[in-house]
Amino acid sequence: MPRSREELALTVPTLLCVHPHPDDESIACGGLLARSAAEGRRVFVVTCTGGEEGENLAGIDLGDEDLVSHRRRELADALAALGVTEHAYLGYRDSGMAGSEANGHPDSFHRADLDEAARRLAAILRRVRPHVVVSDDERGTYGHPDHVKAHTVTVRAVELAADHGADVPGEPWQVAKRYVHAIGRSRLWQLHRALVAADLVSPFGAADTLMEDLPFGVDDEVITAEIDVEEWMPRKRSAMAAHRSQIADDSFFLNLPDGLMRQTQAIEQFVLEQGPPSPEVPETDLFAGIASNDGTVVAG
Ligand SMILES: [Zn+2]
Repeated sequence: MPRSREELALTVPTLLCVHPHPDDESIACGGLLARSAAEGRRVFVVTCTGGEEGENLAGIDLGDEDLVSHRRRELADALAALGVTEHAYLGYRDSGMAGSEANGHPDSFHRADLDEAARRLAAILRRVRPHVVVSDDERGTYGHPDHVKAHTVTVRAVELAADHGADVPGEPWQVAKRYVHAIGRSRLWQLHRALVAADLVSPFGAADTLMEDLPFGVDDEVITAEIDVEEWMPRKRSAMAAHRSQIADDSFFLNLPDGLMRQTQAIEQFVLEQGPPSPEVPETDLFAGIASNDGTVVAG
């Protein structure tokens, strides 16, 4: 008898990643997603918005299709490239960049009631029963309002999913470990300097930008996990390329020289925000030390 998804969830190490827009999953966690799926872990991606405020950056011919439907197809292709078969939208509207008019749209993720949005995500958490959850950090990685909201909603949803008194469908579920994805400042700095040295345009500032003036990146000391995804870089690259309307063929992400590509993308970094700290830092597996709810260790 094949086991149901619910039964499998009790024993198969399960990862759930929350991302604000279609394309964030590939850029931020593409290696982790591809590696986890390839290693037989159950992988579920939640996308909070449809990416309504994205522009057709590559100027591709959409024919009769609107950009949102087109981006749905791009996301499906990207997930297929990563080997991810389970996905849900949270159902909000893209809020646009900070300060833009779209921030005020009544359906925008930015304006969504925190508990209402968190209940939607908590219902997914109770259904999927992930051991590990990953989202943006509290600064929204680079400050976009939807990325900030993805963090606050994920934190609250993990609480609600475990709360027996919460008005959320499904049986309570305690996520074992919650992480945020991050880039250590020194990694970002190395990349910036390497781009400048190679006479390439750095998206992180002018040639004389100082490390402390980089537009994002976290202190290296706060990184608790470094996942080696070198083997899965081709899949991550295919996934990014699938988001053609957002990541044009000539984009920075797809055109770094090989050495720099490896330097920026072969390791993905994370910070443990909730759950048992690992004795070994940085961890090399987000599932390290997790026991499933029948008491057996599911990983690490
Ligand atoms: Zn985004």
